[in-house]
Amino acid sequence: MSVSRKCPQCQEWNTDHNVCVQCGTSLNTDELRNEREAAQLKKHHELNTDRIDAWIAKLSESKKMGGRLMYFMVRSVWFVVFMMLTFIYAVIAFIAG
Ligand SMILES: [Zn+2]
Repeated sequence: MSVSRKCPQCQEWNTDHNVCVQCGTSLNTDELRNEREAAQLKKHHELNTDRIDAWIAKLSESKKMGGRLMYFMVRSVWFVVFMMLTFIYAVIAFIAG
């Protein structure tokens, strides 16, 4: 069974050829699709990598500020916990008489 494929590049009809006899373009549709998908995937990946890089850069820029914020948060949380423990001890002491 012979299969005729039209070249997407030069519009030349090729029979039983996976590669265009005129310009050498691949006529294998699966291959073409795979190439296109791979290119798309690569583009997508590059885009994501750029975004992650930008995010990391942004994060490292705000690291100083974030670290300070974390320090204050830990301190205030510890303060709240300390106050609660003190309150609980006071309640226990009050109940126990
Ligand atoms: Zn061709």
